[in-house]
Amino acid sequence: MEIHHGKHHQGYVNNLNKAIEGTPLDGKPIEEVLKTLDMKNMAVRNNAGGHYNHNLFWAVMSPNGGGTPTGELAGAIQRDFGSFESFQEKFSQAAATRFGSGWGWLCVHKGGKLEACSTPNQDSPLMPEYSHCGTPILGVDVWEHAYYLHYQNRRPDYLKAWWNVVNWDAVAKRYAAAK
Ligand code: MN
Repeated sequence: MEIHHGKHHQGYVNNLNKAIEGTPLDGKPIEEVLKTLDMKNMAVRNNAGGHYNHNLFWAVMSPNGGGTPTGELAGAIQRDFGSFESFQEKFSQAAATRFGSGWGWLCVHKGGKLEACSTPNQDSPLMPEYSHCGTPILGVDVWEHAYYLHYQNRRPDYLKAWWNVVNWDAVAKRYAAAK
């Protein structure tokens, strides 16, 4: 995780800063950069997505994570997926079957409806092309750099272990703010 944060994520930050230097995007909130993105601008697309996605990833994990959500988010998961186990299955499947590099997401639509999906590369659900996805509140990195050192090619094992570090309080706060 230290290599992931200090090397991989830092690389996206450095390259994003280079790509937007002296442009109108310089200094704008990252969410605004993504929501108004020109999808053909690959330098900003890849690096702004990379920065935002990793920020979210770090924020929804904790060494004391795991367990299950409570309160409003737990109710919404029950309502929209049938059960927490069924949600885990849908989310893991979206993440496990994303071919090549990408992300698995839990997103919330206006009104509170939840949906599991995935994006390729460093694309974010906040980008215009994915506006049908809603706002991401939980995301898992399925680039090989996220798991190769410990799990080699075993993405499903990484995904299974990852539930042990999910910080459900952080996800619940994002749910409340985004719905
Ligand atoms: Mn990563």
